[in-house]
Amino acid sequence: MFNIETMTHAHNIYIHIPFCISKCNYCAFFSRAIAPDWESYKKQILSEVNFWHGKLGQINVPTIFFGGGTPSLMPANIFGDIINYVAHRFDLSNCSEITVESNPGTMSAQKLDDFIKCGLSRLSVGVQSFDDDELQFLGRRHDAECAIKILDMAMQKNIRVSADFIYGLPNHNTENIICLCNQINKIGLQHVSMYELTIEKNTPFGQMNLNMPDNNTMADMYLAIQDHLNLQRYEVSNYAAPGHTCRHNQNVWDGAPYIGLGHGAHGRVFMNNTWFEQSGGDIKYNEISNKTRAVEKLMTGLRTMRGATIDNDVKNVLDFDFINSHNGLVKIDGDKIYATDAGILILDDLLVDILR
Ligand code: SF4
Repeated sequence: MFNIETMTHAHNIYIHIPFCISKCNYCAFFSRAIAPDWESYKKQILSEVNFWHGKLGQINVPTIFFGGGTPSLMPANIFGDIINYVAHRFDLSNCSEITVESNPGTMSAQKLDDFIKCGLSRLSVGVQSFDDDELQFLGRRHDAECAIKILDMAMQKNIRVSADFIYGLPNHNTENIICLCNQINKIGLQHVSMYELTIEKNTPFGQMNLNMPDNNTMADMYLAIQDHLNLQRYEVSNYAAPGHTCRHNQNVWDGAPYIGLGHGAHGRVFMNNTWFEQSGGDIKYNEISNKTRAVEKLMTGLRTMRGATIDNDVKNVLDFDFINSHNGLVKIDGDKIYATDAGILILDDLLVDILR
């Protein structure tokens, strides 16, 4: 039997598609360079949908996000079957966003139309750079022309479009970043994610001795993005025109429940008044304490410009003496706590300091 509380909690859905054509030199994501058996991967996703339907009932699903990997490698009929099944098991009547991540060269105009017919409302494109030498260095399979082609094509459709970029490559300086921001402005993108290149140990870059920009240069580049992009920063790495934020990510960062489906996916499920950390693939879920969940909500909420909501659980973990004496770094406004511009630059340290 489901209790009323369980039945009424909406959950966002994240679906991981962990397949790529090849591995990029910096990539530590859970993805493999193989051509999968799409039918069998689809069946696995559907069985996970079924499992959570059994646990949660016909919950409301505000957003769906297909992340990867390279979800745009998925045939449109597989995408359509997954959406139909989710619509059958859950309630999509208030679903306001279905995002699919893509890479240039893997999504034709026809295929995008087919995805749109099946429900796609937002396309996120892994552009990373508009410089062919940089793309080659990163191990990307596309060139700048191919990236601009998919952006132009997608922006002509009635969907929202986002692009990911990587900055802080060896020898990068603020001039490079300003040039990139100008190109983004010229194209007229309404949403971008700007990620700092981080070197992960078990990647080709991790085996090289790369001459990375120092911390001051990195901070200057970060500030230059804010100054030169015609978009508002709404999260540490995300920028959008009004009304173009990623609703799925915003919900997750706000601390809303979400289910992760597929190998490598993780979620936070709320049932029977209890939080569970959950992973897809082998369907595992374990109870987590309200305190752990409160710290997670602070970690994600403070990365956003609108901050984290101070609910009762969050209130219990905050060190108000520290917060009140460090107004230059962190502020409370009504039921929100947020990091100032200075605080955002030292967010990891700040998160430790504001906890009791
Ligand atoms: S396309 Fe994305 S997920 Fe795939 S290897 Fe490159 S960075 Fe990793």
